[in-house]
Amino acid sequence: MHEAGLMASVLGIIDQSRVENNIRRVTEITLKVGVLNGALPDALQFAFDALRSEYTWLDASSVLRIESVPAILLCFECHYQGPGSEMTCPACQSVLTQLIQGEEFDIVGFDGEVDESRKDRSLYEPLGRGGQ
Ligand SMILES: [Zn+2]
Repeated sequence: MHEAGLMASVLGIIDQSRVENNIRRVTEITLKVGVLNGALPDALQFAFDALRSEYTWLDASSVLRIESVPAILLCFECHYQGPGSEMTCPACQSVLTQLIQGEEFDIVGFDGEVDESRKDRSLYEPLGRGGQ
């Protein structure tokens, strides 16, 4: 499945960024997907649910958000700019058009919990647990 491969590479990129930013748990991932991209939001969600158990930094409450980006067509003949998924201008039927959005697949970002214990470990460890 196309979406499973896409989702696996998204999670790989986020894993790398998460480690660099000392994030131990990712709570929310946001993607921006154009309606003409070919990747279906439902299939991406399915792939995310299937893959999440393979990553220690994801759990059942981690959320995948997908922002759908509508297709916008620009016409070089009549300067129409607006919705259109065909390459023919809906205003003047010209084929001298360009799709200016609707095919993207972007990782907008992710939220997570920073691992505070790791950051502070060097300060706390010499003091011990105290009182135990
Ligand atoms: Zn036109």
